[in-house]
Amino acid sequence: MSQISRENALRLIRVTIFEFHRDVMIPLNSNIHLYDRERNADAMRLHERFHDFSAAVQDIYSTMSTAMEELEEWDNSKLSQFLNLCRDISELYDLPIHEEMPDGEVLEVGNEEEGGGITWEIEEGEEDITQNDVEIARAEGYRIMNSGTEAGRRFRELHNSQDAVSIKFKNSGKSSISKVGRKSTVKININESDFYDGEDPPVATDLGATLVHEISGHAYRIYQGTEPFHNKDEKEDGVISLFKSEQIAVAMENEYRSFKGLNQRTKYRGKDSLFPMYWDMPIYERQENKWYAYLPIFDDRYRYTAGEKKEFNP
Ligand SMILES: [Zn+2]
Repeated sequence: MSQISRENALRLIRVTIFEFHRDVMIPLNSNIHLYDRERNADAMRLHERFHDFSAAVQDIYSTMSTAMEELEEWDNSKLSQFLNLCRDISELYDLPIHEEMPDGEVLEVGNEEEGGGITWEIEEGEEDITQNDVEIARAEGYRIMNSGTEAGRRFRELHNSQDAVSIKFKNSGKSSISKVGRKSTVKININESDFYDGEDPPVATDLGATLVHEISGHAYRIYQGTEPFHNKDEKEDGVISLFKSEQIAVAMENEYRSFKGLNQRTKYRGKDSLFPMYWDMPIYERQENKWYAYLPIFDDRYRYTAGEKKEFNP
């Protein structure tokens, strides 16, 4: 039994419809679909509830982003009922959104807005990104915040604070972060899927992991005022600050990668012109809920030289 904000309810419903369409309706042709319905009483009941619920769902379902506005007109009680149905569907079909669904029945959808410390927008001039893409990314943000990880706790802290991070989505290039005072602007390539250099087994870019790296890692410390590399006045220890910064950001990222069952990053590649080398990064051990990294010992070029793995506190 829980209460949930209207904003979050709308998002969970939108993503459920999107994922149901993508993962169930598109892959299953009508014969398999019928077979599924005949064989699975729960599936049949849910389908009927889903289709009977509202003609608006059918419209939304077929035209996705354009008809999404109809949901906005539903009252809170109708949203609560439909969200409960979405939760059941997401569980039955093991949709990714299920991990973010509230436990138990949603008794009430409230009107209060959730923390606005993080804003989610399309970068100006990016015409190939839709609002629906941004909603899917924002759903990943909720998945991070509900993941039970330290990365999620830090993400939520910024989400609940004021004017902490502006996320702008773009369609090419690397992700980056800049700051003014305590506020960060994070530019994220929403379609990035490259593999990181120097990793074996391979480690692919992941939108959620990138959000965690930039926000739970860098933006969190910028907001706290403890991120020296991004504070130009305190740059005297240059490369070592960058190294520590990246170790912490990758520690957060690796914890979330572990949560998602993705390979972790063991290396970080410094900027080619200055320090073309791979730095060892902290690995998260789920069973112990701890990170381990090599001691940050460097020679005169800040290259890793020696040391044993020690517990790392990000
Ligand atoms: Zn970084």
